[in-house]
Amino acid sequence: MVYLDNNATTPLDPAVVQAMSQFLQEHFGNPSSLYPLGRRVKEIINECRHEVASALGAHRSEIIFTGSGTEADNFAILGIMDAFPEKKEFITSVIEHPAVLRTAQYLEKKGYKVTYVPVDSLGVIDLDYLEDAITPQTALISIMHANNEIGTIQPIEQVVSLAKKKGVLVHTDAVQTFGKIEVNVEKLGVDLLSVSAHKIYGPKGVGALYIRKGTNICPFIHGGHQERGMRAGTENTAGIVGFGEAVKVLKQRWKKDKERIDQLAETLKKGIEEKIPHSKFNGHPEKRIKSTLNFAFPGLEAEAILLALATKDICVSTGSACSEEAEEVSHVLLSIGLKPEIARSCIRFSLGRFNTQEDINIVLRELPEIITKLLSISSFHPEGEN
Ligand code: PLP
Repeated sequence: MVYLDNNATTPLDPAVVQAMSQFLQEHFGNPSSLYPLGRRVKEIINECRHEVASALGAHRSEIIFTGSGTEADNFAILGIMDAFPEKKEFITSVIEHPAVLRTAQYLEKKGYKVTYVPVDSLGVIDLDYLEDAITPQTALISIMHANNEIGTIQPIEQVVSLAKKKGVLVHTDAVQTFGKIEVNVEKLGVDLLSVSAHKIYGPKGVGALYIRKGTNICPFIHGGHQERGMRAGTENTAGIVGFGEAVKVLKQRWKKDKERIDQLAETLKKGIEEKIPHSKFNGHPEKRIKSTLNFAFPGLEAEAILLALATKDICVSTGSACSEEAEEVSHVLLSIGLKPEIARSCIRFSLGRFNTQEDINIVLRELPEIITKLLSISSFHPEGEN
């Protein structure tokens, strides 16, 4: 199988499987219990918290484990808006993940004013628009670090500098950047930042929210005193152990992995452009996660391409996994100005740690054939267009 959907989820690293299964066999204690059986589990959780925190340039007291990246996004936004009841405005961008966009829509239903900052044709947010949108009523700005569909990296440092001038807090969704490029809360200057374990070769169902020390935020789940009373509920202990181990592995190898993965992605990009000349690359030429490649294949339906590739055991995506099920046209691709019929022809290839040159060779052999075959039964003729 050739797995090129690493932005949707990553395979577990073998070290993560090992750490989780060993933990599950040896520890069943409740981390809130005061006897040694429980206290040991609490210690292990805190070691994992330290792993995650140090990878982000944070202190371990600034990390809250959550049930997903989605939950971390919800927590950041709703927790801040609740903490500043006198401020009724929230700013985000048009290309956020549904975890942020749907939360913004929920706020709108509750009477908040939400501003959606537009992006240019490369997917970069309009900073002037953002600056104009900030008012004394703005409690929070949430702009993703990089986009999951096209990989464009946003100028978060500049967002922070605009926000700080006006005393507004900044959250960034770093689910797609953690493990792929440097993510450091001090360098970025953000107040809140979301990450998720299953995008970095860890387990699904566990994420984390960084909350800068001293930030005023309301608890997200009410109940026991777990996670400093901010997120009640007995911890997903094995999930957290897997997350901690995934981060440990990441620290050792991400830079080397990045070089190799980026090189493979570049070979795939060049190969597609050469062999399928009417394809169109989406996203920023430079400021993007290099392992994410989004291509339009005008005249075709992305689903048809995806299914044809699946028959060859090649896994790709038509965009974000979430919008795929809903069969919506990607809001990201529409926001960068693609016509709906072009947006419907787009395929995302996202590479990861376990991809090889052989994977790329297979795709470059199968994809052009599939595109030629599908075009031969479509009414679209690329040459006629040019
Ligand atoms: N934010 C971004 C940018 C994502 O790509 C994803 C997952 O695809 C999420 C949030 C949601 O993370 P999770 O799957 O852990 O809920």
